[in-house]
Formats: sequence, structure tokens, C-alpha cells
Amino acid sequence: MSDDSQIIQAIESVQALSPYIPGKPVEELERELGIQNIVKLASNENPLGPSPKVIEAIRQALPELTRYPDGSAFRLKAKLAEQLNIKSSQITLGNGSNDVLELIARAFLNKNDEVIFSQHAFAVYPIVTQAVGAKAVVTPALNWGHDLDAMEAAITNKTKLIFIANPNNPTGTWLSKGELKAFLKQVPKHIIVVLDEAYAEYVNQENYPDGVRIHKRFENVIITRTFSKAYGLASLRVGYSISTSHIADFLNRVRQPFNVNSLALTAAEAALDDTDYLEKSIEANDSGKSQIKKALKEMNVNYISSMGNFLCVEFKGRAKFVNDELLKMGVIVRPIANYEMPDHLRVTIGTQQENEKFIQCIKQILEIK
Ligand SMILES: *Cc1c(COP(=O)(O)O)cnc(C)c1O
Repeated sequence: MSDDSQIIQAIESVQALSPYIPGKPVEELERELGIQNIVKLASNENPLGPSPKVIEAIRQALPELTRYPDGSAFRLKAKLAEQLNIKSSQITLGNGSNDVLELIARAFLNKNDEVIFSQHAFAVYPIVTQAVGAKAVVTPALNWGHDLDAMEAAITNKTKLIFIANPNNPTGTWLSKGELKAFLKQVPKHIIVVLDEAYAEYVNQENYPDGVRIHKRFENVIITRTFSKAYGLASLRVGYSISTSHIADFLNRVRQPFNVNSLALTAAEAALDDTDYLEKSIEANDSGKSQIKKALKEMNVNYISSMGNFLCVEFKGRAKFVNDELLKMGVIVRPIANYEMPDHLRVTIGTQQENEKFIQCIKQILEIK
């Protein structure tokens, strides 16, 4: 059948876009292989499953599904504001923090403005940059992480925004308080610096900067956080930013009025109250990461030191082969050739059993006795 819409062309910036590549869904591999018990360690999801308190809160909210959500998210913002010791007006909620990243791009980027981010940084930065016709300026990584000197050197009078993920996905690298502050002091005040803290909860380093404090000192910084990772709510899509009220007001103008649904709002509130779950998640991640690191060391397999809930594991020249074999064995990890890391696979830290399955499969694939 002919497709008459073929003559229709997207706007220039969209023509050049490559879509985000998500992790392979469990159901898809189940269909392909006809096997059950698939282990998915591909999307940095929380392996513990949602908090039972969150499930209960959602259950109680179900009868209100006919109503629009609270577009101002009064209760969730109030709770966040209290926990973070900021004003509600400084918070912008998003349908996942991805949504907030896009709001930032749409609210602040003109066509041809320059946006700086690092090689191997989160794949959403180039997408939101390009979608609004701004120009991506990608600086080379240093030891797989952000090279702040290179990023500073890349600033021109066209620079409007800088994305920094701390820790970064997919590499897991992180920046210390001292490094970050020294950098921010050099950044002109009219340039927005987005500090993406999707994995902040997992970091256990004393000199890891607290985004809220950084924001208080540098008001051109926008912090983004999410309920998708340590809080275990990836499917509900809820994240937020912390900025000045002035910047939040602009974000709010481009935001869809009901961008976060009512179950997500309810769940996020319950998740904030369930500090035990958060603690358990962090502990499970620490012990799972140690478990995988120990096994990799024993197998002489290199990995990049990571502060997130994932590890980039090196399989020189054969990452694609290892990935294909893992899939056949029912283990989904994330190939990251699209991050210019063709020799690595990113594995999310799972439950102890999931990690063990991953380890055993790697042993088998690499024929380690
Ligand atoms: C997972 C992730 C996010 C959060 O995505 P959500 O849209 O909140 O699910 C943001 N930034 C980075 C670096 C991530 O890895």
C-alpha cells in the first residue's frame, strides 16, 4: 500500500533526530524465545519492586480516576518542599524527569543556542537539544566522566545551557563538591546549568555535592531528580526540578497542565514517606554492586567504577557477542554502542539471584572455569 504521507517532512531539527533506544522489554524477549524467568538488568530499575505502602496508597486513590489530577500538585510539592527545605514554588514536576529536561529545553533554548554536555552523557540531552533546533556541543570525556575543564573551555557567547549528570548514566562517574563548585564559579550567570541527579540517592561519598545546597549558592543551576530509580516508580513517570521560583515559573508555562497523573502523585507522596524502602533499596544496591564487582574481578573482567545502580562492564571487541549470548540465556542488559561505548555493556544491579544469574552467564559465555 502506498503511503501518501511520505511527501510530508518533519521540521529540520526533527529530521536529524535519532530516537531514544530503551531497554528491551521482558515481554518482547519472552515472545521471541518462548522462555520465562527472564532477568532484566537493562533500565536501571529498582529490583525490589514497588513499596507495599505505595501500592496501598494507589489502591486507595483508584476511585478518583474519573477526575483530573491536581495540576498544581499541591500536596506532593508541599511534602518535597518540606523535606528539601525549599519553597513549593521552586519545584516543577514532570512526567518523569525526562519531561522536565524537555521543559527546560523548550522554555530556554532558542534555535542555534549552544548546549554543552559530555561525551558518554545521558542520551536524552542530545534529543531535547536537537528537538528545539539548538546546537549540541559535545566535549570529550575524561576517564569516562565529565571533563569540566573541557566543558568550561567550550563556553562561547552562544552557550545557553550546560547539562551535567552527577552521577552520570551510563558510566556511573561522579563529580565532587570541590570540582563542581570550582566549575560553577567559572560559568557566567546567564547560562543555565542542569545538574541531573537521577541517581543521587545511591551515592555514598562524603564529598558528593548536595544539589539543593549547590542551587542555593548558584541560582543558575537547575537540579533534576526522579522517582524512577531509588524510589522504584519508573512506570508511573514522575520526576521534578529544583530551581529558583523565577525559573520554575517559565517551566510551568510550557508544562502540560496535567503532566503528572494522580496515581503518580499519590505514589510519589507515599514513596517519600517510606524511608525504610529507600534505605533497603540503597542497601540492596550496595551489596548487589559488591557482589557483581567481586565476581568480575575474579574473572579478570574490567568495569568502570560507578556510583549509580548499574555498572559498565568491558568486553573488548566482543560486547555485541556477549550481549547476544546473554539474550539467548534470558538476561537483558544494555548495549551502549550508541553512547560511543561499543566495548561496554551496562548492567543494572538486580536482586542477589538476578546478579548471580548474570555472573553465571558471563562465566559460561567467557568460558571461565
Ligand atoms: C533514568 C534517568 C533519568 C530519569 O528518567 P525519568 O524520566 O525520571 O524516569 C534522568 N537522568 C538520567 C541520567 C537517568 O539515567
